[in-house]
Amino acid sequence: MYDVDEIRREFPILDRRIGDKRLVYLDNAATSQKPRRVLDALTKYYERHNANIHRGVHRLAEEATAAYEESRAKVARFLGAPGTTGLVFTRGTTESINLVAYAWGRKNLREGDEVLLTEVEHHSNLVPWQLAAQATGARLRFVPIREDGTLDMEEAGRLIGPKTKLVGCIHASNVLATINPVVKLARMAREAGALMLVDGAQSAPHLPVDVEALGCDFFACSGHKMLGPTGVGVLWGRPEILEEMDPFLGGGEMIREVRLDHSTYNDLPYKFEAGTMNIAQAVGLGAAVDYLGELGMENVREHERRLGEYAYGRLSELEGIEIYGPKEERTGLVSFSLPDVHPHDLSQLLDEEGIAIRSGHHCAQPLMRRLGVPATARASFYLYNVEEEVDRLVEALARAREFFRPYAI
Ligand code: PMP
Repeated sequence: MYDVDEIRREFPILDRRIGDKRLVYLDNAATSQKPRRVLDALTKYYERHNANIHRGVHRLAEEATAAYEESRAKVARFLGAPGTTGLVFTRGTTESINLVAYAWGRKNLREGDEVLLTEVEHHSNLVPWQLAAQATGARLRFVPIREDGTLDMEEAGRLIGPKTKLVGCIHASNVLATINPVVKLARMAREAGALMLVDGAQSAPHLPVDVEALGCDFFACSGHKMLGPTGVGVLWGRPEILEEMDPFLGGGEMIREVRLDHSTYNDLPYKFEAGTMNIAQAVGLGAAVDYLGELGMENVREHERRLGEYAYGRLSELEGIEIYGPKEERTGLVSFSLPDVHPHDLSQLLDEEGIAIRSGHHCAQPLMRRLGVPATARASFYLYNVEEEVDRLVEALARAREFFRPYAI
């Protein structure tokens, strides 16, 4: 049984008050809050096991290594990866995608090649490819969106061809709440002989994910958006592709043998984990995916789907509101604009009521341009949010409307 009251008790920060108001945290797409068991895992790691991993033979080094590798196995299972070989710890989605754009892109892209992205990409699945394109002469192309924010798959079909070397797409949008048809895109990519990269920053925390079922070659996500600590994330890649790639960062741990003028590299996944990793954070992420697994990702998805639907309905009651993205098949976030109120002013006013939402371009400036707005306000929900919090948001928005009405031009 999914007991949201019990779940909320696991998150100490949800008891916080902002002024005299209880915190309503609706900025989960930026980062999630952390349950006590993740905080405890971090403390326990530092109090009992802290050491550098893989190198030492003393007890603490062995314990720390075991905890880190156990976490890798847990995360691999959580993502449906067939094993741990292709499961690389990184700092997060941004670093994971940069890793692919450098280590795969620089080696494999040539002038005349194409990388196909979409109009809805987060900057972290766009800028690394711009850099790779500049370095190699490859060309970036983009699948457009339709009026409702869903991808124009007919156009995708026309754009994917023999020149396409990689297709990259966000699984779920951090602005539009869309769930993109990445399985279909992966199939189209494969038929064209291209690789498929899925940016799972907004899917792994919220939907059941199985990298094998997705049919992708690379999957990236961030620990801090899925109850884990900051500073740790994941790149899963097909081992046979990772094997052929050059290293991304050079240094300790990623080598097998070093001579003064050249080196050979370590086995996967260590070849991509140079230097001292964020060990405690990786252990914390293991505790986070344990918890998500206990709750059941189907249940998490259902809770957020219902809450998102409720929020969509309640927000629609506000006169003149514009809600972005499709009506159906949404994740649990809502981006919107209110007439005559700038999203920044809105979030500031809501902050005074203890309500944390996000306003801005959400690291998706090209998408903002496509929508014809400089910024939107965004309320994003997670597994611990409840309908009363949506009600508080809607009531506060109604008050904000009244507050700003005299200033309307
Ligand atoms: N992709 C998407 C869709 C995101 O929402 C985010 C975070 N806002 C990122 C990538 C980047 O994640 P991180 O900052 O953790 O690297």
